[in-house]
Amino acid sequence: MNRVRRETEDTYDVLGIGFGPSNLALAIAIAEHNGRVGTDRQLRAAFWEKQPRFGWHRGMLIDDATMQVSFLKDLVTMRDPTSGFSFLCYLKERGRLVDFLNQKTLFPLRIEFHDYFEWAAGRLAGQVDYGHEVVGVEPVFEGTEVRYFDVSSRTPDGGGLVRRARHLCLATGMTPRVPNGAEVSDRIWHNRDLVPNVEEWAGRPTRRVVVLGAGQSAAEAVAYLHRKLPETEICAVFAKYGYTPADDSPFANRVFDPEGVDVFYRSPPEVKQSLMDYHRSTNYSAVDLELIDALYRAQYQEQVQGIRRLRFLNVSRLRRVVSQPDGLRITVEHLPTGELQRLDADLLVYATGYQPPDPGELLGKADKLCLRDEEDSLEVGRDHRVRVADSVSAGIYVQGSTEHTHGITSTLLSHTAVRAGEILDSLLAHTFPGDAPRPVLSTTAD
Ligand SMILES: Cc1cc2nc3c(=O)[nH]c(=O)nc-3n(C[C@H](O)[C@H](O)[C@H](O)COP(=O)(O)OP(=O)(O)OC[C@H]3O[C@@H](n4cnc5c(N)ncnc54)[C@H](O)[C@@H]3O)c2cc1C
Repeated sequence: MNRVRRETEDTYDVLGIGFGPSNLALAIAIAEHNGRVGTDRQLRAAFWEKQPRFGWHRGMLIDDATMQVSFLKDLVTMRDPTSGFSFLCYLKERGRLVDFLNQKTLFPLRIEFHDYFEWAAGRLAGQVDYGHEVVGVEPVFEGTEVRYFDVSSRTPDGGGLVRRARHLCLATGMTPRVPNGAEVSDRIWHNRDLVPNVEEWAGRPTRRVVVLGAGQSAAEAVAYLHRKLPETEICAVFAKYGYTPADDSPFANRVFDPEGVDVFYRSPPEVKQSLMDYHRSTNYSAVDLELIDALYRAQYQEQVQGIRRLRFLNVSRLRRVVSQPDGLRITVEHLPTGELQRLDADLLVYATGYQPPDPGELLGKADKLCLRDEEDSLEVGRDHRVRVADSVSAGIYVQGSTEHTHGITSTLLSHTAVRAGEILDSLLAHTFPGDAPRPVLSTTAD
């Protein structure tokens, strides 16, 4: 029996796919627009999220991990510092405003920011349906014009829903990446599930764990495992000589500014590439200096005590991983000499990053309407709207998969609030074409 229901209510102006921080910020921007005194042009919005409840990288909610972005780059402040959805309003409501300020930090705990996101998502509960995984998008024609999209969801009970919308906003996040040909199993994890997997594993005899990777998540995983499994040897394997500190210095940090996005967007491909190369270490394969120092200190302390529980196998790579009933046989190659070392381990954690999914996979038939550049990447306007064939008046917005057009901040939180405002303006301009949007190219090059 087909248990997919077609909604008979009116068409939505916008349907958001995914309800992480990006679409949560958009939902807030829309709700604030709709609630503004004198607004007679309200947008009918809904969001579908595949998780059963709100969750932001739950598997990496390490209790002492902190945010890598200032709390002022929360869901709203950079767009509207007077919004009632700011981190400061959340703190006030939780009764911790003064206590937070006494810490004199811009970087809250990750668990605290997760609670903030949940608090904001809870206030918009009426707009989001959890447990709905979007599995298909069908263009809907009026004559020769594609005017709407029919979006299908799947629910855990085998059912689903079809909902019609004039515009879509895809913000489905990143997909965990593992090395080519690598498998994931009960002993081989991606760090995405680190915390729940360690909790489930706890109590089983564990001689050794290998962590592959040299980025922030890898370093966090090494520190967490070292703390959580006090009898276990933790081996960090990476190709670099040492961890690279994340560049959060003020001039480099400007690459995350709204103006930084404008400049990146306007740049020719070779300048885009050089900007990405110059500023990779603001985000990729880079670790907070404090954490690097803490790991070094812990290793040195063990050296003094004659213990060797924390090991760093640098300039190395994994050559082979063989699963046996009693554990893993891992072969590590030291790159300068080619020397091979066998490590018998109980667990292997791939902390090898994430990649943005190509929205084409989700868009299905609707993908054929989207224009692509020579690299086969989506052409995306400055307003985050995908360029489409002339016959299409329905809109597709993307958040997160736009590093090639909008730069390094696309997958991060720094631009979330401002981007939500830009998408709102564009939605209004396309839904009520008489309304002129605020210009999004807000600066000129100096
Ligand atoms: C551990 C970790 C810590 C981080 N810390 C920071 C930080 O401190 N600062 C920073 O700037 N960035 C950080 N990042 C980067 C991160 O990408 C952003 O913080 C943020 O998650 C981006 O939000 P998003 O909504 O675009 O994506 P996500 O948060 O990934 O949300 C996407 C949502 O879409 C849902 N979804 C996916 N497919 C479907 C579908 N087919 N149907 C319905 N729903 C779907 C997912 O379940 C998910 O809830 C961190 C990343 C990780 C992994």
